[in-house]
Amino acid sequence: MSIAGVKKDQMTARERGKAFMEGKPIDRIPCNLFMGDYAAKLIGAKVSDLHLSVEKNVAAQIAAHKIYETEGAGAAVGLGGIAEAIGSKLGFPEQGAPYVRDFAVKEYADLDNLSVPHPVKGGRFSHVLQITERLLEELGDEVPISIGVPGPFTTAGNLRGTQNFMRDLYKNPELAHRLLRLAADSTISFVKEAAKLDVSISIADPTASGSVISENQFKDFAFPYLKELVEAIIKAGKSKPTLHICGNTKKIWGYMADTGAGMLSLDNQVDLGEAKQAVGDRVVLMGNVRPTDTMYLGTPADVEANARECLQKAYDNPRGYILALGCGLPIRTPPENVHALTNAARKYGQYPLNPENFI
Ligand SMILES: [Zn+2]
Repeated sequence: MSIAGVKKDQMTARERGKAFMEGKPIDRIPCNLFMGDYAAKLIGAKVSDLHLSVEKNVAAQIAAHKIYETEGAGAAVGLGGIAEAIGSKLGFPEQGAPYVRDFAVKEYADLDNLSVPHPVKGGRFSHVLQITERLLEELGDEVPISIGVPGPFTTAGNLRGTQNFMRDLYKNPELAHRLLRLAADSTISFVKEAAKLDVSISIADPTASGSVISENQFKDFAFPYLKELVEAIIKAGKSKPTLHICGNTKKIWGYMADTGAGMLSLDNQVDLGEAKQAVGDRVVLMGNVRPTDTMYLGTPADVEANARECLQKAYDNPRGYILALGCGLPIRTPPENVHALTNAARKYGQYPLNPENFI
């Protein structure tokens, strides 16, 4: 598929990503498709196959790179993956994200029997590490490879049940902190192992969203552990991680930047222009094309318009900008809409940028 005015890339995604992180010149604005589970259908696999089979996961990501010229690849522990390694049991629906079917901490006394899992043998950690090693071999010359981990707050919810954990924040804050301590220590232990590979590490903490908890709860229960995790990632020799939190995060942008994260990946519920004003001098911004309204339900023209809208608001972000979705790519998104987003990055994002093209 081609659009008039779309130029060929001059850099590989790996070269572009590296130059971007080092603040050096790049050929165009990077584009992140948040493809995730979407890749399953490219090889006729089920979504659950990606979470359970190293071979299928790697094959799906290679297919995604060939078909959509994805600009990154990697493995995610998944939102429940740290909790799983500690003792929660996950279910793997054929066409959906894994979910917790049995929580490890039903009573707080259960915490006495739980400990930091082995960084390789725990849960599906070895699955994640093997996928990453294979991707480094297969795609590592062309695209940056990353490992995604959940934030401690999200893991605590997946150990205890989110409803129970939310109640604990009010009724039993000391025990909530014990749970968060275990979640953070377990994540850091895995991150130290993952950091031995040539990858960047990213964090997603959806349960810590401003749409779920208050600003004060974020400050007391999510922020300190996220900051610790970010510091551990940097101490392990990795670049400053990307931090994704879903929903409305406007009230916590300052805290998100204070964690030390290098990049904030923002949901489409918030305004990139406002984020630029608030924290753009401290962090790269990534986002926030609408996954459902635009990608799934819209047309290629809608995708191009939404991409232009994002560029207009964030192209001049002081710390830089990456065109991306606000959250994961819906698995029923029409292929032409996915192509339309990468084409928009090529059409409007060439350096030197000419804002007249998209404003
Ligand atoms: Zn999200």
